[in-house]
Amino acid sequence: MTRIREGIQLSLPFAQESARPVFHYDEPGWDDRHVEAKVDALIADGFTLPPNRYPLLKDYNGATGQERRTGGGKWTVALLNKLVPLPTLCSICLSTRNLQNHNENYFRPCAARPLCKRCHFMLHRRFRAPHSWLTHAHQHHYEGAWFTRIAMEEITRDEARYLATLQDPIDAEQLMPRRYPPEGDWPVMSSRTSVTTETN
Ligand SMILES: [Zn+2]
Repeated sequence: MTRIREGIQLSLPFAQESARPVFHYDEPGWDDRHVEAKVDALIADGFTLPPNRYPLLKDYNGATGQERRTGGGKWTVALLNKLVPLPTLCSICLSTRNLQNHNENYFRPCAARPLCKRCHFMLHRRFRAPHSWLTHAHQHHYEGAWFTRIAMEEITRDEARYLATLQDPIDAEQLMPRRYPPEGDWPVMSSRTSVTTETN
């Protein structure tokens, strides 16, 4: 199934500069490293965020809780300075409600993708509940969807840093050994895969 996603092309200055069609978030819709450099310059010039009073998040994909906080802060600075677009749609289910941002690789914090709260929860839970996640992803997938290229086992810090050197830092197809399920026709669900047991 290929979903036609008319009417949700982003209109961004960076996209116009590159004259490349930006189709949702399946390709980077902006040069996130360029954005991060601008964010770093703003922070160096004294731009600050209110103190974060939440406890640190757990480690994720090789990034520490502190690195996640720092990366999330950079994303917020980018949003507040209109260097990236405000999320308007969940990039998986297209919901317009309860929107959040997901960062799959905190070594590229300005390459976040918008997700609704439900999709965000399922995505983070995929290591423990792969079947639920793959079913959900399969329901919404279309050719090239970013969320069909993320790793199904948590990646290491070295792997995350390696992916951060690539154009798209979420692309777990590039990892060896692969952290990418299942071999073959992903995301077609298959009983051959080892994703049928779950613990919650
Ligand atoms: Zn969603």
